[in-house]
Amino acid sequence: MKADPAVQRRLLELADVDAELARIDHRRRTMPELAEIAEAEKSVQAKRDAKVANETTLGDLDREVKRQEKEIDAVRAREDRDRALLAGGTVNSKQMTDLEHELNTLQRRQTTLEDELLELMERREAVELDGRHAAVELAKAEEALADAANRRDHALADLEGVWTRRTEERAKLVPTFPEPLLGLYERVRKLKGIGASLLRARRCGACRIELDRSAISRIAGAAADEVLTCEECGAIMVRTPESGL
Ligand SMILES: [Zn+2]
Repeated sequence: MKADPAVQRRLLELADVDAELARIDHRRRTMPELAEIAEAEKSVQAKRDAKVANETTLGDLDREVKRQEKEIDAVRAREDRDRALLAGGTVNSKQMTDLEHELNTLQRRQTTLEDELLELMERREAVELDGRHAAVELAKAEEALADAANRRDHALADLEGVWTRRTEERAKLVPTFPEPLLGLYERVRKLKGIGASLLRARRCGACRIELDRSAISRIAGAAADEVLTCEECGAIMVRTPESGL
């Protein structure tokens, strides 16, 4: 294949643009914010789960407290009825003894229930405190996630700006190459990542292999418009005065 040496040298500009586009693409996929966001999302989810679990426990305790209070009210109502009967003077002595006995039992029951209620209230208070703590933790985790997402978006916007400029440059460069040369460049670039590079100090700029004496003499003897490719990586080797041939 043959191509004007000036056109061949312009391939180096295209290769620079493509190298930068590849770097941007790599940075987009590997920016540290992405791992940070994945971690922050996990943390937010765990904290949301903890908050839901806390709310469930609190709801259960609230129902237990209500049940306990209802039972205490029922016992009190029964005590009031017994006391009213005793005060009414309409019961005989046997009934009176029975009522007094029942009142004693009811009072013991009431004390037990009240102790249990107190214990429930204490537990509820502790769970409520945990809930407030869980809400603060969740808010912190959500803030960290939003912060990381914000940094990612800024970094992406910066990269997007450079990407757009380089893509425009590329679109202007591409039509300046004859089709067979561009076709070769694109094929090698797709396969190996680099389509063309400067031959310098006897090394292929793409794969860095040092060329042996016979390869160098072959290159030195080739016509300036001959398109040369690296035997190792296939990249187009562009010669300039820097090549040191
Ligand atoms: Zn090479």
